[in-house]
Amino acid sequence: MPPYRAPRGTRDLLPEVRARLSRLESVARSLAARYGYREMEIPLFEQTAVFERGIGEATDVVEKELFRIAPRTEESEAWALRPEATAGVVRAYVQHGLQTLPQPVKLTVVGPMFRYDRPQAGRYRQFWQFDAEAIGDPGPAVDAEIVELGYRFYVEAGLSGVQVLLNSIGDRACRPAYLATLKAYFAEHAAQLPELELRRLDTNPLRLLDSKDPAMTALVAAAPKISDHLCEACSAHFEAVAAHLDAMGVPYRLEPTLVRGLDYYTRTAFEYYRSGAEGQQQALGGGGRYDGLVELLGGRPTPGIGFALGLDRVLLALDETGAEAAHETPPLAVVVGADPADTVARLRVASLLRAEGLFARAELSPRKLGRQLEAASKDHAHFAVIIGDELAEGNVQLKDLEAGTQRVVPLVDLARELARAAKSHHHG
Ligand code: AMP
Repeated sequence: MPPYRAPRGTRDLLPEVRARLSRLESVARSLAARYGYREMEIPLFEQTAVFERGIGEATDVVEKELFRIAPRTEESEAWALRPEATAGVVRAYVQHGLQTLPQPVKLTVVGPMFRYDRPQAGRYRQFWQFDAEAIGDPGPAVDAEIVELGYRFYVEAGLSGVQVLLNSIGDRACRPAYLATLKAYFAEHAAQLPELELRRLDTNPLRLLDSKDPAMTALVAAAPKISDHLCEACSAHFEAVAAHLDAMGVPYRLEPTLVRGLDYYTRTAFEYYRSGAEGQQQALGGGGRYDGLVELLGGRPTPGIGFALGLDRVLLALDETGAEAAHETPPLAVVVGADPADTVARLRVASLLRAEGLFARAELSPRKLGRQLEAASKDHAHFAVIIGDELAEGNVQLKDLEAGTQRVVPLVDLARELARAAKSHHHG
């Protein structure tokens, strides 16, 4: 057993997995850019209050999963690692006065999030999200646009059979009356409620619909549905979102118990699942409208909507479907030498190729030429550049390891020849 291990709930992304995650990140970035979302960064940690106020104190994310940072000195503020990006992005929107820009302001963050949860399959303490936020547009068209953006991400990531679950959770006008109805319903069944749910019945009854406790399944299924209690404005908004999705051909299913785990959501709520994988730990992503959040974090009342897509779960899903190509690019060329001891010449030529933007590896071990060539083939390199006596006349041997052909090339033309070959041949 090695003496040190990565912390529980985290994992090292060794190069092969890192390359797969990088591919997802570039799919995310390229899509976000095409939809007009501009990438930004927020700190990996914030004042705890940003999450407590922004996400809500009576939520799993804050109550049970917030990764608090123990302050070193007394004057330090209370900090926590970000469990999601929305609260931080909205904090930044308020802090930097982004409401003065043309609205909506469309922002994206791609990076790690942290939740101090019990680790299990698909649930890590450090995980990666693709987050997108459109702040300053009341919808409903932008709601459909962002739902479709998330859907398109899975399509372009190569994951098929992803479904959108859609609901409206009402707003300040209609939710209070619904919450009263819901509270009365659960209060009638108080004897069956687990302790946490009983506590939340007073602080945040909507959370009960989102409960992970199996004891709640039947009760939740029979609970009053928000969709039967929406005010006219919320109903009209919801119908318009659905109509826009229909027009774009995005497949979705109405899911009346979908409430999302966070307090700040209003109206549109959505989640992405793979058909047949709809368990609690299997949500691929989710999002919703948060018309109250900017104000909650000190800004002017401003509508907003966003999503967070879990990239680790996409990797897991791709493992299952096996629909992924390899993503690590082999070297275009390996520089080998007839004189095993002459690492100077090999490194010099490799350096020259790299300066021209090419992926070239120099064989630095003092092995015999045959062994060097074997290693180059094992690397799946397309070419071997063989340095021998011809170097005195400024030439090298260029061996095409795939075609098995070999010819003499002047060193001054080498980079150009390789670049041309790389272009006509698909690498990676
Ligand atoms: P949430 O804001 O909790 O709905 O999270 C959005 C998405 O992030 C989820 O649908 C998951 O795909 C992913 N996610 C959330 N928590 C974790 C975690 N602990 N480990 C891995 N992925 C997670």
